[in-house]
Amino acid sequence: MTAKKHKIPDKHGRFGPYGGRYVPETVIYALDELKREYRTIKNDKAFRSELKALFADYIGRPSPLYFAERLTEYLKGPQIYFKREDLNHTGAHKINNTVGQILLARRMGKERIIAETGAGQHGLATATVCARFGVECIIYMGEEDIARQAPNVKKMKLLGAEVRPVSSGSKTLKDATSEALRDWVTNVRDTFYIIGSVVGPDPYPMIVRDFQSVIGKETKAQSKRILGASPDAIIACVGGGSNAIGIFHQFLNDKKVKLIGVEAAGLGLRSGKHAATLSKGKPGVLHGSFSYLIYDHDGQIILPHSISAGLDYPGIGPEHSWLYDTGRVKYGSTTDKEAMRAFKLVSRLEGIIPAMETSHALGWLIKNSKDFKKSANIVVCLSGRGDKDMPILEEYGEL
Ligand SMILES: *Cc1c(COP(=O)(O)O)cnc(C)c1O
Repeated sequence: MTAKKHKIPDKHGRFGPYGGRYVPETVIYALDELKREYRTIKNDKAFRSELKALFADYIGRPSPLYFAERLTEYLKGPQIYFKREDLNHTGAHKINNTVGQILLARRMGKERIIAETGAGQHGLATATVCARFGVECIIYMGEEDIARQAPNVKKMKLLGAEVRPVSSGSKTLKDATSEALRDWVTNVRDTFYIIGSVVGPDPYPMIVRDFQSVIGKETKAQSKRILGASPDAIIACVGGGSNAIGIFHQFLNDKKVKLIGVEAAGLGLRSGKHAATLSKGKPGVLHGSFSYLIYDHDGQIILPHSISAGLDYPGIGPEHSWLYDTGRVKYGSTTDKEAMRAFKLVSRLEGIIPAMETSHALGWLIKNSKDFKKSANIVVCLSGRGDKDMPILEEYGEL
């Protein structure tokens, strides 16, 4: 093998120029502690078996690799498979990461958990594991999002979490994230901050990636068994980028496997109302990390727009920025309209209601299916289920 191995981040937490730690001094100590503990714990036998047991019996892993027969017939090829993260406990891939991080928090003796949430999916996954382990849980959420995501707010409260409304700025995810970071700076001694995607300061992008890599590890083994080989291409939607990195990571050194990340194009890439961080953004610093972002001439963050709340983030994980620059992963985008069409089509054809986020990956494949050989095997990371998205149907006049 002559190709250079994909071995990142480096010891400074950099993925090429991206990543790092752009945080107040007081947090550096906590990040060092987290990194040190994680390094020790991740290879610890007891930790690994505890994690394995929770993955199996609490989340329901491994998630199946499913042949989407009618979608394949409808498009007349390629051969489409779904990696069924929608079947996980709480309905998406996010639980893989929160289970991992709560075990880490417990090992580190932290009794108080904080997290930020936009759509409420990460808040819900965090509240779930906090209930499971009986620890205090505080979820920061923008007031705007609290109004838009009432069912998830109720679920978090039912699970025993305190949902703290954030009224600064745009009252959405980016403000909730800033508030959570502020809490952490103040309470760093006894508090563990569970970040929900492959974003934030080092070592979070690496830790979240490692916990989510179970998706790709299973996909590799299942492909070998079902297809006799690795798939020809893997497609995943990209918000912060955790389900995508999770399924891509095992295949980064296998250059025959095409990897495609799909961003939210919202009302269109030229509309100014989208969340297409890589397609339209530039490198900058947000939430403790250097990565692609969408911001204006004054350096102010442009409020992202997407039909799916889970992709509605102005940044992206640093590893994706690096994979974009190196060209190992190709990134495309899907508009609100195309995602809605995919959402309805896949529901009808497969009896699987995909999350609106996932529908962006599906929409990209539907739009570009002719670029693949009919015999090509394509895996779509079905990151979550769409039950939560029923209100969007009404909002867009689709019901
Ligand atoms: C949160 C979410 C996403 C986006 O987050 P990533 O970190 O990019 O994976 C995608 N799909 C679903 C179902 C989600 O809940």
